[in-house]
Amino acid sequence: KKYVYTFSEGRADMKSLLGGKGANLAEMTNIGLPVPPGFTITTEACKEFYLAGRQFPAGMVEEVEEKIAWLEQTLGKKFGDPNGPLLVSVRSGAVISMPGMMDTVLNLGLNDRTVIGLAAGSGNPRWAYDCYRRFIQMFGDVVLGIEHHNFEAVLEEQKYKRQVQYDNQLTAEDWQQVIEKYKFIVRRETGSEFPQDPKEQLYKAIYAVFNSWENDRAIVYRRIHKIPDDLGTAVNVQAMVFGNMGDDCGTGVAFTRNPSTGEKMLYGEFLTNAQGEDVVAGIRTPRPIAKLQEEMPDVYQQFVRICTLLENHYRDMQDIEFTIERGKLWMLQTRNGKRTAQAAIRIAVEMVDEGIISKETAITRVDPGQLDQLLHRRIDPAAQLNVIAKGLPASPGSASGTVVFNADRAENLSQQGQKVILVGTETTPDDIHGMVASQGILTSRGGMTSHAAVVARGMGKPCVCGCEAIKIDYENKQFTVGDIVVKEGHVISIDGSTGQVILGEVPMIEPELSAEFQKLLQWADEIRTLGVRANADTPEDAAKAREFGAEGIGLTRTEHMFMAQDRLPIVQQMILAADPEERAAALAKLLPMQEGDFYGILKAMAGLPVCIRLLDPPLHEFLPNGEELAVEISRLKLTGGPAAELQQKEELLRKVRSLSEFNPMLGHRGCRLGITWPEVYAMQARAVFQATARLVQEGYRVEPEVEIPLVIDVKELAYLRQLVESVAEEVKQATGVAFHYTVGTMIEVPRAALLADEIATQAEFFSFGTNDLTQTTLGFSRDDAEGKFMQPYLEKKILAENPFIVLDRKGVGKLMQWTVENARRVKPDLLIGICGEHGGEPSSVEFCHRIGLNYVSCSPYRVPVARLAAAQAKV
Ligand code: PEP
Ligand code: MG
Repeated sequence: KKYVYTFSEGRADMKSLLGGKGANLAEMTNIGLPVPPGFTITTEACKEFYLAGRQFPAGMVEEVEEKIAWLEQTLGKKFGDPNGPLLVSVRSGAVISMPGMMDTVLNLGLNDRTVIGLAAGSGNPRWAYDCYRRFIQMFGDVVLGIEHHNFEAVLEEQKYKRQVQYDNQLTAEDWQQVIEKYKFIVRRETGSEFPQDPKEQLYKAIYAVFNSWENDRAIVYRRIHKIPDDLGTAVNVQAMVFGNMGDDCGTGVAFTRNPSTGEKMLYGEFLTNAQGEDVVAGIRTPRPIAKLQEEMPDVYQQFVRICTLLENHYRDMQDIEFTIERGKLWMLQTRNGKRTAQAAIRIAVEMVDEGIISKETAITRVDPGQLDQLLHRRIDPAAQLNVIAKGLPASPGSASGTVVFNADRAENLSQQGQKVILVGTETTPDDIHGMVASQGILTSRGGMTSHAAVVARGMGKPCVCGCEAIKIDYENKQFTVGDIVVKEGHVISIDGSTGQVILGEVPMIEPELSAEFQKLLQWADEIRTLGVRANADTPEDAAKAREFGAEGIGLTRTEHMFMAQDRLPIVQQMILAADPEERAAALAKLLPMQEGDFYGILKAMAGLPVCIRLLDPPLHEFLPNGEELAVEISRLKLTGGPAAELQQKEELLRKVRSLSEFNPMLGHRGCRLGITWPEVYAMQARAVFQATARLVQEGYRVEPEVEIPLVIDVKELAYLRQLVESVAEEVKQATGVAFHYTVGTMIEVPRAALLADEIATQAEFFSFGTNDLTQTTLGFSRDDAEGKFMQPYLEKKILAENPFIVLDRKGVGKLMQWTVENARRVKPDLLIGICGEHGGEPSSVEFCHRIGLNYVSCSPYRVPVARLAAAQAKV
């Protein structure tokens, strides 16, 4: 087995073996770009390392030795040779990039002897000793597990002693003193000397990279981003180049297009006279890449050329790391850049226009889950803002919340239902849980590529970073801007698109779809075969849904109309009626109201199908709470209240109790209501048809779909269908208007799914109510499961996903597939859709496409997500 590949032996498509970084270093090497030579230890080696109980697999070390010898020969340098020491970096490289999650060691190969050689050879002792102390610091931190602050304290102390502000004001002698103190820390913390043998250093570093695959931050990151735990990481060992040898040196990161907006321009930052991690760590605030043009025009030209070449080669926006050593440019990394949804759309659309990618590829470049970002709020431009500071616009969207300074506290408060903004000098991978829990993130240091910025963009959270005007005082849990003091618990707002930091809460507005977004969705519509409808209960929702591109309504829940304040008393009268006459009186009052509802919705969706479901929920949802009634009754009794009122309340309580059920979700609901009280369904059908007749008369094209919920047997459906049809005939007779309609049912109970072929004979359409179908198939209460036992099921990985959010393909999906196959056997053209929450969830949409549904239906705001997901399912 081959465990080690030199860069020239690899290729971009060997990502799963070489990791993202290794595969791309190989690709860059092979297309002739200036890449410092090196090699990659495979993810395979990492997996075997874990299988063997954290031991290098047999043969790996021998291969590494061979490659080191090759590297020594290539560069004319030797590990541990004071007259030309080989120095390397050791970095992790996961298959799916995990920024900031894994560890890096630079300058490996330095020791007490080689540093002397390096100082003499370079003629720059200050630099050489700085390299050595950085190496001890990084190695101490990531390999030996010594806490960072131990080293920081020494550095601060040295600067204080010398009365200087910046690291680069320290001299070679200062660094030598620092090195001695660092070595003392290593001795004190580990009980051993800092390892002097470069080979020992190398293997310890490789071991640490493998180990870091299982560190807490990496595990958390994988959980959040749903990255499999068994991929393992590769290790890249690469000859060092130095960006910190003087002012003709530097290091930076750049995106070939703006990762926030997608604008086509080189976008990035660099620091002169700095080493790798200085930029990403966000410790010094770097300068925009355009300034490089002024300082090193030749290097800049070459860099621009390489950026274009890489973008065309990969046909995607690249995120590039580079170093300039004594005026020579070196490429250290390239990968497809992370971007906001807004940028993803613009880049995809413009790359089609530029002829770089096809429309189909463009469709796949945007993560439908990420689109939520665009359906994010922003600050109302008309609002009066008390802007107190401005930082970098690191991740778009706006948020208000109470200020917290610590990730744990952010998590706690958010669990108590508070909206929080996490504020800090910078963030580190240890803060991830706090970032997840926050509405937005504000940092006082670091650039657009700092940890806070990168992670917030990935999460789609607003972030303002590098806001140097705010001075954070952790001790007193407050920050100040001039003489404004903002304490923990105060409310601020941030605008991640402008960088503004605002005192107090501000009014927000909902977004609209950009021109590029419309264009992309139009392509999605051309490509997809799965229809997209919306769930909407009001004319306003219907209009919004249309605006977002819905091709009809997949579910109108009529009960929502029953809940309105002015209707509830009539609905209660209907439910509690003592005799048929009284019920008829209540229904007569409801009829014109319902007709008005349907008229509005059908009109808003004219020309498109509208599926109207007859009454579904258990009746007690419309009735007063029994406990509260009982309390009122005892009070009336105690205070000797009016006898008539008391009697009325007691009567009411009796009814409420007689209607109450132990298991209302499995009780008197759905079409069971239609079976027991046909007059209710008849009234609703009449309202639908009268509205239809009116609209047809007014010249609109409307064709309602009347839907019967919670069916378990074809006989139920046959009975209710006949009821609906006879009402339709009556309305046609009475109005003299001819109209079309269809009757169908929801599939929400396993029995209905199992008997789909029979039920199909009485239906023109099916719609999967996967909320109930999930509830009834798993036997999980949709109202209780999430609060009670879902978490352990997910943590113990008994279920991979919450089945109420992501469709349970294995169980519920099997029933759906069975339904589709058997129903279409008897009725090949049966219209089949889905209207449960899953209809707007991308991976569930993909499944619906696969099993041949005609459409998905989801909330209006998710319609664009579903359109894109449906197109992706097709390509
Ligand atoms: C369903 O059960 O999936 C459904 C759409 O109906 P409701 O959520 O109203 O029960
Ligand atoms: Mg349902």
